[in-house]
Amino acid sequence: MSKLISIIIPAHNESANIPLIYKKIKEVFLLIKGSYKYEIIFIDDGSTDNSIEVLEQLANHDKKVKYLEFSRNFGKEIATSAGIHYSRGDAAIMIDADLQHPAELIPEFIKKWKRGADIVIGVRVKNKGEGLLKKVCSWGFYKMMNLISDTKIIPQGTDFRLIDKKVINEFNRFTERTRITRGLLDWLGFKKDFIHFAADERKNGRATYTGIKQAKLALSAVISQSLFPLRFSGYLGLFISFFSGILGLFIFIEKYILDDPLNMHFSGLAILAVIILFLVGIILICLGLIALYIGNIQKEVSNRPMYIIRGKKNID
Ligand code: UDP
Ligand code: MG
Repeated sequence: MSKLISIIIPAHNESANIPLIYKKIKEVFLLIKGSYKYEIIFIDDGSTDNSIEVLEQLANHDKKVKYLEFSRNFGKEIATSAGIHYSRGDAAIMIDADLQHPAELIPEFIKKWKRGADIVIGVRVKNKGEGLLKKVCSWGFYKMMNLISDTKIIPQGTDFRLIDKKVINEFNRFTERTRITRGLLDWLGFKKDFIHFAADERKNGRATYTGIKQAKLALSAVISQSLFPLRFSGYLGLFISFFSGILGLFIFIEKYILDDPLNMHFSGLAILAVIILFLVGIILICLGLIALYIGNIQKEVSNRPMYIIRGKKNID
């Protein structure tokens, strides 16, 4: 029995690219002919162009093409997750619709998977046509995330990756709505292998995963993966209280117990300032404690469905 590979393609306004990526993937599987069965799952993430008509046509002609149509734009991360939920393959490969990820490498991913890797990660060595700002931002993001979050995230590790059925099953247990798919995959562990590639420029259209969208995502990732920003107030409070406490103790001993041997003549105002500082520190510490509780609540509440499907084809 030949194994089934699910190709997962999130698409938001990619009507010009969908036929191209479809053709490329078909070619790739023709090359490794017969060794694997495959299905191509497109997730139309609330496109406002005619993507859905293009998909419908493809799906009518080729039963290997399946699609989910979201009721609105839910974002790439959710779209990819939905694709994983609906994939039936022994392995799934996620790839962008805009041809920035070289589909020719799919056989390499499969090869590494056959050799025993559970996750094969496409690592971007350089991105043609990417602005300096975006580069600096993504570099900074990964540095910061790795500094403050509990799981290590591979910098330049892209969404172009293969995951084994075992990983798919575990991944499908995640319920959080605010998610970065590759972050969750990194969290899962499993045996990893890597494939390096240079990303091409996007074919048609513009990147819709805009700076603002990505900045929002980065922020929510920080918040959902880590309570550090909130806990930070606690640390700040500890720091302030500690030093103002020492200063207060010094003043108390120097002025009131030893009767000012150093002739420092602390004014009432200065003493008041130290006391206030100390109390502000205490308040910040309490905020940090509250953060711990909020963190627990955040984990438990919010049970909305992750996405809403408006239609689908060739898929159950
Ligand atoms: N995408 C999506 N939903 C969105 C934005 C993007 O499904 O809200 C898809 C898009 O169609 C493409 C992939 O995610 O297949 C990567 O998006 P894009 O090229 O805009 O981002 P970048 O290449 O800058 O990561
Ligand atoms: Mg792109």
